[in-house]
Amino acid sequence: MTFPSKATHQQTRAHNAALVLRALYDFGPISRADVARLSGLTRTTVGDVVGVLIDDGLAREIGRGPSTGGKAPILLELIDGARHVIALDLGEFVFRAALMDLRGQVQRTIERPVTGVSGDEAVDVVHELIDELATGSRETLLGIGVGTPGIVDAATGTIRSAVNLNWQDLPLADILRARHGVPVQVANDSRAAALAIELFSGRRSTNLVAVKVGRGIGAGVLLGGELFHGDGFGAGEIGHVVVDDDGAECRCGRFGCLETVASSRAILLRTTEAANEQPDSPLGRRLAASGELTLDDVQVALDAGDETTRRIVVAAGRFLGRMLAGVIGVLDVERIVLHGSVAELGDVWLDAVRDEAHRRALRLLAGDVVIERAAPIGDLVLLGASAVVLTAELGLSVGR
Ligand SMILES: [Zn+2]
Repeated sequence: MTFPSKATHQQTRAHNAALVLRALYDFGPISRADVARLSGLTRTTVGDVVGVLIDDGLAREIGRGPSTGGKAPILLELIDGARHVIALDLGEFVFRAALMDLRGQVQRTIERPVTGVSGDEAVDVVHELIDELATGSRETLLGIGVGTPGIVDAATGTIRSAVNLNWQDLPLADILRARHGVPVQVANDSRAAALAIELFSGRRSTNLVAVKVGRGIGAGVLLGGELFHGDGFGAGEIGHVVVDDDGAECRCGRFGCLETVASSRAILLRTTEAANEQPDSPLGRRLAASGELTLDDVQVALDAGDETTRRIVVAAGRFLGRMLAGVIGVLDVERIVLHGSVAELGDVWLDAVRDEAHRRALRLLAGDVVIERAAPIGDLVLLGASAVVLTAELGLSVGR
């Protein structure tokens, strides 16, 4: 057990700087007096911190605001383009990288297909993407953020296990830091997305669960405004909880995991089976024409009112809702946000998720929880990877 000791002078300064930055980030343009009021710091401390931020090129004065009686106050704002972050989303088929400013505005995006790429070769692709984006922006580079599938030790940036990439105990943050010379944060992709929803959707929640429902299923849990990682960095790994005792084999090797009944893979497997059984149905004809169904085909069939497709999508949604009822029971969070390719399927799916979660959770708790789709604010994993860097380097999650 570690015992909290008195903060060092340096820690206090970093904490104060983070409080001021947070006020500028969330409420700028803003006066020094209002920063002091919001942060609880003295005006002298705010003045000192602001001076350093202006010297560092992170903030600037933009003239006087409206007077509230006395002399009109000078307003301050954060300079969004003062620093940049390189964010990466190590997706299953494509690695994507973006150069972003402090607001998550994308300056440039590049990508590489990685089907069949794993191990050291996959690390080389990460280096290449960073090299390409860092050219010309090294001086303003605040850090690199990586969103990756798998179990990630977020404290050290070590990937304990990412099955598809064949990475075991890979110290990715150390490797990238050594090569590129800037701070590096590595986070599980679902956790990164949760942070993005929190930081960039314009609506802060103290407690939030964000569930990514695509080929895989995973959740990010924010408690008290901070990402909760769990003792083994696996908090939110709901995709591999067994929910169907007679279920199909999962890619993790077990049978009947949530992913085998509620992921896009599961939905496409079921609809393909149905299409094979009913070759004259809309999906049957679609399958015959293209050889493979996609979620877009499922969407078209849903919109056309195809009953078989509706039943398959509802069943998938209900399995997820059942899991969410458990999440609500344990955490009593006020908000659950759903994102990923399956969440795009629309209200048929969302209604099934909500209905099942509300039906199974304790009425008192379930009545209050909002289950909704994520706002379309951009690529959540990329935004999240940058959010992890902003949080670590500028303390933007401090002081809520
Ligand atoms: Zn599994």
